[in-house]
Amino acid sequence: MRIDVVPIRKDNYAYLVVDPESGTGAVVDPAEPDTVAAAAAGVRVTHLLCTHHHPDHSGGNAALAERWPGLEVVGSAVDADRIPALTRAVGDGDEIAIGALRLRTLAVPGHTRGHVAFVGGDALFCGDTLFVAGCGRRFEGDAAQMHHVLSGVYGALPPETRVFCGHEYTVRNLQFALTIEPDNAVARAKLAWAEARRAAGLPTVPTTLAEERTYNPFLRVDVPAVQARLGTRGAVETLTALRRLKDAF
Ligand SMILES: [Zn+2]
Repeated sequence: MRIDVVPIRKDNYAYLVVDPESGTGAVVDPAEPDTVAAAAAGVRVTHLLCTHHHPDHSGGNAALAERWPGLEVVGSAVDADRIPALTRAVGDGDEIAIGALRLRTLAVPGHTRGHVAFVGGDALFCGDTLFVAGCGRRFEGDAAQMHHVLSGVYGALPPETRVFCGHEYTVRNLQFALTIEPDNAVARAKLAWAEARRAAGLPTVPTTLAEERTYNPFLRVDVPAVQARLGTRGAVETLTALRRLKDAF
């Protein structure tokens, strides 16, 4: 599986996923149609995978459906009325075939109630549920749901899973992470790396689930030092406190 990172808009990432055998591919959250279509030149794009309804993710659906006749526009059945040009409504466990590739849908509500992620091979396309060193705001769900997604659903995936997320927020997220765990040397090193990458105009994706567990505070809500810092007890209370602090950061 070939995965190309396509930076779009101010800080969004779209992705091009290609089955090298057949030259068939999919685009993920292609909210800047011209840029993504140019990146996909030479690939027969059969599927558009939409993680959630927010316009910076779904805003290219209609234009690309028009540009590529027969394009299967895949998105959450829960949000079928809010995802433009939807042709295939999916839910947890549904499989999508792109050439010889097989991607599985994960229901990951919280940022939006119908948010879905797509996992195939060692790659996870998680939209705005999880970022490098952070996670998305909780617009349409509760903290228990968000904890279930971050620690339960993603926790069940192999640790070496590569994470392709929806935004480039890494530097800011790590600055926040260091306010929670000032002595976290991995977070400090990752921040220096991320700053150098961004200064060179390069993305900081993908990351891996294993790596995220070493510095992403939202995946470390069970760590005693994190709970002690926040004066909280239990994972969900800690996640709630973290999210409140991050929203104001
Ligand atoms: Zn969003």
